[in-house]
Amino acid sequence: MSLIVQKFGGSSVADATKLRRVAGIITDTYKAGNNVIVVVSAQGDTTDDLIEKAKEINPNPSKREMDMLLSTGEQISASLLAMTIENMGFPVISLTGWQCGVHTDSNYSASRIKKVKAERLNAELDKKRIVIVTGFQGINKYDDITTLGRGGSDTSAVALAAACHADLCEIYTDVDGVYTTDPRIVPEAKKLDEITFDEMLELASLGANVLHNRSVEMAKKYNVNLCVRSSITPNVEGTVVKEVVKMETMVVRGVAKDNDVARISLCNIEDTPGKAFRIFSLLAKHNINVDIILQSIGREGTKDISFTTSEGNLQQVLDICEANKEIIGYGDISYNTNVSKVSIVGAGMVSNAGVAAKMFEALYDANINIHMIGTSEIKVSVLIDQGMENKAVKAIHDKFELGN
Ligand code: ADP
Ligand code: ASP
Ligand code: MG
Repeated sequence: MSLIVQKFGGSSVADATKLRRVAGIITDTYKAGNNVIVVVSAQGDTTDDLIEKAKEINPNPSKREMDMLLSTGEQISASLLAMTIENMGFPVISLTGWQCGVHTDSNYSASRIKKVKAERLNAELDKKRIVIVTGFQGINKYDDITTLGRGGSDTSAVALAAACHADLCEIYTDVDGVYTTDPRIVPEAKKLDEITFDEMLELASLGANVLHNRSVEMAKKYNVNLCVRSSITPNVEGTVVKEVVKMETMVVRGVAKDNDVARISLCNIEDTPGKAFRIFSLLAKHNINVDIILQSIGREGTKDISFTTSEGNLQQVLDICEANKEIIGYGDISYNTNVSKVSIVGAGMVSNAGVAAKMFEALYDANINIHMIGTSEIKVSVLIDQGMENKAVKAIHDKFELGN
């Protein structure tokens, strides 16, 4: 007998028909003699709709109240799915994040899981019940409901799999695996049988929302057997995410894009030591992740520093810079949200010269201008004008012949 965690995303549980289909996958797994923990997201666009509702009432609601609101979406799908399974005659119970001991920090709307106290979960499994858990949420030390950030149900699933030592964690979604790029943008994209944790982590962090990036981080840390597959065609083999994959000739594993990017530039900073340290330590103190960083060569005693972050962080970054203008010592600040990031990812890149050049050539051929470049051992990212990102993804995907 195995313990299997199955996570179903919003599109997989969007209506009664889909709930019945998902219930079929779950009960088949249970009938085969397995213990099953199920993690669900809110139905369809529920989370977006709730955010809209909140904005009608208060354009700037507190994050605590937002978490209280958004967590309800997952409660609806968990209870409805439990009722569906109940109706099929199987023993089942739905539990919220706090009922099954998901403890998080207090960073409302982007909380991190600190520990999972799995006693209740294990007790329900001992009673041979199928346990349905609300994804995306937990509880903090003040007994407040917290949420894990958009797409966070994947992370809930992996956290429960790690805490309960599950044999497998299956992420069921509306595509049948991880592709070389979003198959909705590039129909020629190819499904990958396997991908490494590191590659998947980069792809997810750079915009491939098929998996929440922190779910991949956690699966790697706790050695969770993780796979992505389709709730529509559950018999099709999905993609396995693991530490080491079979030897592959593919240098570039995938292409990702992200429109949730803001570029901020601090200009005319005094060209002396410690400026970058000041800026980025201030941002780090406020939990603000930055991605691509570009510093110009000093000219006439001054330099410019530009960086990117997610759009949601923009106002806070501007406020922090404004409040610390004297300490940082810059002249002007400018920003642009009309930009997108396009990235290539692949563990084979590090030992292959010319990969970045090939990517830039693809963009040149497509007449797309590059504003900033960021690289690591296994990725190259470029910042381009928003609106060009799909064209860029296609051009790069073609250039590296990833569809073949
Ligand atoms: P869920 O609601 O199941 O969590 P998401 O919408 O979060 O589903 O993630 C699935 C979507 O991720 C797919 O519909 C697809 O458009 C998108 N996607 C982006 N990049 C990729 C990729 N490289 N491979 C597969 N899907 C991707
Ligand atoms: N319902 C949440 C969201 O839409 C969490 C998730 O789907 O994983 O972001
Ligand atoms: Mg998702």
